[in-house]
Amino acid sequence: MTHTESRPESRLPNEAHGKVYLVGGGPGDPELLTLKAVRVISEADAILYDQLLNPEVLRHSRADAELFFVGKKKGDHTFKQSEINDLLYELSQRYRVVARLKGGDPLTFGRGGEEYEHLARHGVECEIIPGITSAVATSACFGLPLTHRELASSVTFATGHASAHGTPESFAGFALKGRTLVVYMGLSAVDRIMSELSSVPANRGTPAAVVEKASRPRQRILYGTIETLPEIVRQSGVESPALIVVGDVVRFAESVAKLKAQALQP
Ligand code: SAH
Repeated sequence: MTHTESRPESRLPNEAHGKVYLVGGGPGDPELLTLKAVRVISEADAILYDQLLNPEVLRHSRADAELFFVGKKKGDHTFKQSEINDLLYELSQRYRVVARLKGGDPLTFGRGGEEYEHLARHGVECEIIPGITSAVATSACFGLPLTHRELASSVTFATGHASAHGTPESFAGFALKGRTLVVYMGLSAVDRIMSELSSVPANRGTPAAVVEKASRPRQRILYGTIETLPEIVRQSGVESPALIVVGDVVRFAESVAKLKAQALQP
């Protein structure tokens, strides 16, 4: 956390409220920010961010902005969601422009909805600036269309993690034919998810991939099937953040990647 004295004109008279922006910080590549996000980051008096955000994005901030790291790591909670909500409210009473930066898109598995609700409840003006969610970045980085005229007419974004109720989403009975499934936060549950998908006989042999650090310098994709993916994840030492993508579009991406590599050979 960096503490700097803020500019006096940024402080608000007692009765006034500042405005909070929930800002999509994109998947990692600092160029994958919207112009609106850059503008808000450069105007903000205070910025809250977490570990998914590429810190390079913060170079757009003012030298005297107050920066708060409110990251949450699995098993090592630095900040509770309720504490972040309270801090957002508190900062909105002190400053004109508060930016809450989140990796990817703020409302896609980002708990931005809870922050938005909290601010609405307390009468704080709040605007949402969308960001490129990691599934969409994955699609662009690896030529992996999430939908395809012949292969997939719908796409599902799901979490592999347990919800607040303690029950993870079940994929048993999820038919993959003609669909794409993207699982966020699914790495540690890859065995369970793949075996649930295998419970549908028609799903057997469906292509599946794990995508590590999409749009970052050491991004990689590993291809397999719903049967082989757990072993691939173990063998390759894939690390978070990573997404799991399942469906025939994965085979399409792999074959186009091969064509591309062949065409580039001398
Ligand atoms: N709001 C974020 C998602 C937050 S949940 C978004 O819109 O992308 C955190 C999960 O997002 C990670 O566990 C991982 O599954 C995924 N993720 C985020 N950034 C990623 C990246 N660059 N590459 C692959 N997966 C990523």
